[in-house]
Amino acid sequence: MSGAGPVRKVVIAGGGTAGWMAAAALSKMLPMQESSITLVESDEIGIVGVGEATIPPIKTFNAMLGIDENAFVAATKGSFKLGIEFDGWQREGEAYLHPFGPYGHDINGIKFHHFWLKLQKLGFAVPLNEFNMSAVAARHYRFDRPEHIPGPAGPALDYAYHFDAGLYANFLRSYAEERGVVRREGKIEQVQQDSTNGFISALVLDDGTHIEGELFIDCTGFRALLIEQCLQTGYEDWSHWLPCDRALAVPTARTEPLLPYTRSSARAAGWQWRIPLQHRTGNGLVYCSSQLSDDAAAGILMGHLDSEPLAEPRPLKFVTGRRKLAWNKNCVALGLAGGFLEPLESTSIHLIQAGISKLLALFPDKDFKAHERDEYNRLTASQWEHIRDFLILHYKLNERSEPFWRQCAAMEIPDSLRRKIDLFAGRGRLFRYEDELFTDTNWTAVMIGQGLIPTGYDPLVDAVPEGPMKKLLAAMGQSFRQAADNMPTHADYIMRHCKGV
Ligand SMILES: Cc1cc2nc3c(=O)[nH]c(=O)nc-3n(C[C@H](O)[C@H](O)[C@H](O)COP(=O)(O)OP(=O)(O)OC[C@H]3O[C@@H](n4cnc5c(N)ncnc54)[C@H](O)[C@@H]3O)c2cc1C
Repeated sequence: MSGAGPVRKVVIAGGGTAGWMAAAALSKMLPMQESSITLVESDEIGIVGVGEATIPPIKTFNAMLGIDENAFVAATKGSFKLGIEFDGWQREGEAYLHPFGPYGHDINGIKFHHFWLKLQKLGFAVPLNEFNMSAVAARHYRFDRPEHIPGPAGPALDYAYHFDAGLYANFLRSYAEERGVVRREGKIEQVQQDSTNGFISALVLDDGTHIEGELFIDCTGFRALLIEQCLQTGYEDWSHWLPCDRALAVPTARTEPLLPYTRSSARAAGWQWRIPLQHRTGNGLVYCSSQLSDDAAAGILMGHLDSEPLAEPRPLKFVTGRRKLAWNKNCVALGLAGGFLEPLESTSIHLIQAGISKLLALFPDKDFKAHERDEYNRLTASQWEHIRDFLILHYKLNERSEPFWRQCAAMEIPDSLRRKIDLFAGRGRLFRYEDELFTDTNWTAVMIGQGLIPTGYDPLVDAVPEGPMKKLLAAMGQSFRQAADNMPTHADYIMRHCKGV
């Protein structure tokens, strides 16, 4: 037991997605009878307001909070997400879906895609996504919860959500305030430090109020008021690998059918997202400003909308990379204050969730032990780097003709990604490293989707006779199609179970 005792006074600076996720989780997990959590936010500054697509681990976060899923989807006017369609990423006119959930199932401990690869080489022309339940359902715009799907198809389906970012922050705010989190409205004008050790001691608001704390969580978005402006932690810039540095976001009217997946369409010097919600569609263009002017970017975005715009496009600027330390002194940075990775695989909200989980696992005593902070920073760095590599993969393996895309195809990539590509290109081998978010399925989907078909397959597959293997695959494909046929459409499912008011 530490003599200092655990931290009891937490101050969260910022009330966007990151701030309210942290407030909700800490209010659930800390002993609130002896703790105080204060969140400061400024309505005048507002939130970034994008960040509407998620990945399956968010279900674990909601379960930890004890949130009812139907109520959550209704309150955020959300929809269900079975994967991401990448349109034109390998070449113009071709698309593939990166689905959630596994491909088939392992046989004799060997990954399913090896069996598929062998059969492909023998002329079996069934696409890999026929063996992924989420992909089959997505293609038919269907959705159901796994527990309602009979047989092995049920556990094979995985999903996440699309939601309105503003409504999500409101939803978590009600949750956190009910559990005792105190919200302070006001602008942080000054961050005070202890003169002996440089630790943050208080936030000073524009009305002169001092908010003192022991642990400070910086959720002030791109401003990074505490972790950077005060503590000058430093930033690792990754824009030589991920050169897009601007975005324009615009909502449009809802269209039918309501797609149960995000769409990402490659454009001349970047890509466009499309996120279907109950009341509108979220759209945006992520682009590289050295290759495309802001006016040209607006023209591309507005020229590729599939329904009427509901607002003017909103510009955002960013530099891809991460804060050198996610936890510095007594300050932990979450969300955009901690760094930025473009939303190609919807990973930012997940990184907030992962940051909170690690903070809870290493929740500090008042003496803030350096080795606990170091462990947090080590784990965070490795998680960010794995995701960075996965994003670079999408750019590296393109065959598009525009200068931006040719430069991406020619760029030097991190050694860690080079190893992954080489291992997969040979015999489809993949290894998941410590704390790596993306699984074999994710890597397989994108490598094959981007046209990297391994020249071989795991030789151990040859121990399984081909006849039964073909039968097994045919039966699996059929059972997935049947399961999808029996599901309601995505729109019907929402109307019946989680319609927002
Ligand atoms: C173009 C784009 C698309 C994205 N798409 C996705 C996606 O699909 N999926 C995904 O997971 N993520 C996505 N993200 C990331 C996602 O938006 C963020 O991770 C998420 O919104 C968290 O933002 P935040 O809370 O860190 O910052 P913000 O939303 O910017 O919140 C900052 C908070 O700090 C407060 N604040 C700042 N300065 C002060 C001050 N001086 N005084 C008081 N308060 C202050 C603000 O008022 C606000 O409450 C996207 C990001 C961008 C830029």
